[in-house]
Amino acid sequence: MPTDADFELRQRLRRIATLGSVTALVGWDEQVMMPPGGTAFRADQTAMLAGMIHGQVTDPALGDLIADALDASAASPDSDAAAVAREAARTRGRAVKLPAALVEALSHTTVLAQSAWAEARKANDFAGFAPWLEKVTDLKRQEAACLGAGGKPYDALLDEYEPGETTDSLTTLFDAMRPRLVTLLARIQGSGRQAPTEILRREFDPVAQAALAREAAIAIGFDAAAGRLDVSTHPFCSGIAPGDTRITTRYAANDFAGGLLGTLHETGHAMYEQGLPKAEHFGTALGEAASLGVHESQSRLWENFVGRSDAFWRFFWPRTRSAFASLSDVRREDFLFALNAVRPSYIRTESDEVTYNLHVLLRFDIEQKLINGELAPRDVPAAWDALFATLFGIDVPDAASGCLQDVHWSCGLMGYFPTYTLGNMYAAQLFAAAGEALGDLDAHFARGEFAPLLQWLRNHVHC
Ligand code: ZN
Repeated sequence: MPTDADFELRQRLRRIATLGSVTALVGWDEQVMMPPGGTAFRADQTAMLAGMIHGQVTDPALGDLIADALDASAASPDSDAAAVAREAARTRGRAVKLPAALVEALSHTTVLAQSAWAEARKANDFAGFAPWLEKVTDLKRQEAACLGAGGKPYDALLDEYEPGETTDSLTTLFDAMRPRLVTLLARIQGSGRQAPTEILRREFDPVAQAALAREAAIAIGFDAAAGRLDVSTHPFCSGIAPGDTRITTRYAANDFAGGLLGTLHETGHAMYEQGLPKAEHFGTALGEAASLGVHESQSRLWENFVGRSDAFWRFFWPRTRSAFASLSDVRREDFLFALNAVRPSYIRTESDEVTYNLHVLLRFDIEQKLINGELAPRDVPAAWDALFATLFGIDVPDAASGCLQDVHWSCGLMGYFPTYTLGNMYAAQLFAAAGEALGDLDAHFARGEFAPLLQWLRNHVHC
């Protein structure tokens, strides 16, 4: 039976999460609907909400409630009540180390920095973004210093996204991975086989792409009655509230893969959010994702293990081909080969499964240097381009194809990139385990049956 302490703590956490859901809604609006003229005041709105949430999390009364709930659940450390109290203590423990002024400054600055980044990326103008990267980096360094508990400054940032993960453990993992990826890439490039990627660069009406992507999302299990699919510059998923999970994609007329695989990716995130027991546990750790790495494992699993598989396309090819005249002369085998092409490319989100993690390793290196103060923000393009040439063997032509491509730094999301590679690794292991439990997944996919896999993920990951 839940105790009074557990009940009261949950009530309080739900109120804080409700305020968080308003912030998420305002954030969604900023990315999807807001006119550019709204940027300056949106920064004020967002900073005010961040300040209110910080005030509630750091309120000593919440600290007392958590202490009572920890006491009441101490005898049963594996219980729901103990997990709720322990994770609330963790979240509050981080928040009380941060001055309210820093929280509000970060929130305010990152709204403006994001808008500056979008302009700079469009204009391919790093100099226009550099002052903002300096401001955000400086604030993140302050945050790391406030949070720091003996480890490396970057550890404090990592811990927000992947609890317990450290720079050292990731370095060990990535150091083992890097040479094998580089060797694999060289072998594939030396194979003499060329994927017919021009197939995916033909003419694809964006309206038809959006309709097809929506069909794919619903086919694999996206609940459209509890979610939305829209368009934004940078695709994302936001689990705004119980019963309201929203994803976005972007469609370009000469890029089939970005739109469809991007949608499957975000749908993977969305199905995790929709599978969390939020109605009952909203605001507590029981109703939230375990970590961003686990979140990414769901998106990468559906994007790559399902969406690039032969079996999925046995199911989805006929309707895809009939949707676009530009595919009328294309064989499914060639289309699938193109979708699985491996080659060095500049843009992380459009990269293949082999080179993807190299993109992450590069960012892991640069971010650590920024946070440690070993690299000045204005020197990022030079550092980026040099490391890119080493890892990929090709030269970056401009900043938009290099260090300006990702939205993350403008949002203050430093320490976030490594979770993408962790997600890939978790996804591989989860998919193997699901295959062992469920038998011939390919046969399911070829018939358009995705519910058994989704249900397995619901039982073993989402809950
Ligand atoms: Zn993702």
